Amino acid sequence: MLATSFLSLASATGAMAAAIHTRNQFDASAYAADDIIERDFAIIGGGAAGTYAAVSLADQNHTFTLVEISDRLGGHTRTFHDPATGASVDFGVQIHLDVPIVQDFFTRLNSSLAAVELSSFGTPKYYDFTKQVALPNHTAGTMQSDYVTLLNKYPYVDDLVNLPDSVPSDLLLAWPEFAQKHNLSQGSTEAGLAWPATPGDPLSTTALAILNDGNHIELAEDEGGAVHNANNDNSQIYTNALAEFQPHILLNSSIVAAQRGLNRSSGVQLVASTPEGKKLIKAKQLILAMPPVLDNTKSFNLDTTENSILGKLSGKYYYGGVVNNTGLEEGIAYTNVGVDRPYNAASLPGVVEIAPSAYSGYQFYWYNTEVATTQEEVQAAAKSTIQWLQTQNNVTTSEPNFLDYQDFSPFHLSPPNEDVEDGWYTKMKGLQGHRNTWYISSLFVVGSTQVWNSTNILLPDIISAAQA
Ligand SMILES: Cc1cc2nc3c(=O)[nH]c(=O)nc-3n(C[C@H](O)[C@H](O)[C@H](O)COP(=O)(O)OP(=O)(O)OC[C@H]3O[C@@H](n4cnc5c(N)ncnc54)[C@H](O)[C@@H]3O)c2cc1C
Repeated sequence: MLATSFLSLASATGAMAAAIHTRNQFDASAYAADDIIERDFAIIGGGAAGTYAAVSLADQNHTFTLVEISDRLGGHTRTFHDPATGASVDFGVQIHLDVPIVQDFFTRLNSSLAAVELSSFGTPKYYDFTKQVALPNHTAGTMQSDYVTLLNKYPYVDDLVNLPDSVPSDLLLAWPEFAQKHNLSQGSTEAGLAWPATPGDPLSTTALAILNDGNHIELAEDEGGAVHNANNDNSQIYTNALAEFQPHILLNSSIVAAQRGLNRSSGVQLVASTPEGKKLIKAKQLILAMPPVLDNTKSFNLDTTENSILGKLSGKYYYGGVVNNTGLEEGIAYTNVGVDRPYNAASLPGVVEIAPSAYSGYQFYWYNTEVATTQEEVQAAAKSTIQWLQTQNNVTTSEPNFLDYQDFSPFHLSPPNEDVEDGWYTKMKGLQGHRNTWYISSLFVVGSTQVWNSTNILLPDIISAAQA
């Protein structure tokens, strides 16, 4: 009894101390002047969305500080540079649509664009990497006009911010069921299952997610409208943004505590843990450009509404890397398919493809799985796939050399189907501006072109909230 009381007293005292400690973190007098950052906007996350917002706000004479957890900007845009050979290999984001918002952003950041020849992605050779079967006669299904007809029937799937409250139940069917129900051609059904860089098992992915990913912008890119950095360095815009805005960017940093006001004029206060110690950030509005899953938002003192909406989100696992010394043929995209799976969809976990790059000898790979996987496990799987492919292609066995790696998780965030049916996207949209907080990362759209479009559309509201 005595021991129990002592323990509860100790835990109450601990909780009180923690509360006081948390309060103290916002006490400006506890910080050196240099460690207090006052800006119009705090942006958390420096991928496509965060960097675009930062540059746009700066160009409209607003101040910002950007907090990025990694040691670089770019997020899913990732480029390997080999200083010894000058090789440059994009192994995350590959392409954008050739439209003014992309052209202007690249021009603004002194990066030239070039048209993407779709042939540069390589001639596919198909194998079931898991079952170790070569499929020399396999041809992949190609998109037919019936896919576009179907896409046009659901115009709001391009950007889920426009999803109606009552979501047509067909859109929540798994893609193969949806395709069958809508008499979609075999080619379009297969092509829908094979959008590049799509995490998870496509056979159980909803039609909503497939159409949102493979929307009109993705189709236009595939039909020849794609561009990328002229020097195979899609990260150049991010490197240049970092060079220009360095004093306003905190790398290797994250938010450890937050107080967000209930009205516009009370703004937000954030405590950032940085390599130079803690910083107190005071901003008028907070822009979340990181994936807003609970793991990332737990330090933001979420209220029950936010918790009930953001708590539903989860992402999928996806990994990638760069390799050389594989001995594999140049210009070939070694592609995984499932020999005995419906529509030959590749099984998981597994390497998606070993793809060629613009530089002889350098390849990149993607790895798709339903469970969190370590770098060692991913590279071991890639290595054994490459070594098996060597045996299939009469290549002198050589030891693949792993040069770079990225964990792209959590990827393709979404709530469970029952929450989609229950109007989750409308609720998420309703969170915009709540407690001076805005969400711009890829929640409603997938690709960078669309992320920039939707950020551009939302920025006037964010700016006017800061002026209120
Ligand atoms: C392999 C791959 C290939 C792709 N190819 C294409 C393509 O060719 N074309 C295309 O348009 N799209 C492509 N995409 C989609 C891509 O996700 C989007 O284009 C876009 O990059 C998403 O931007 P984002 O800013 O929402 O997220 P991200 O680019 O992921 O940026 C989020 C940022 O937040 C940071 N962050 C995370 N947690 C925290 C935290 N707690 N605190 C602070 N910062 C944090 C991350 O480090 C990251 O920098 C691809 C994605 C992948 C994974």
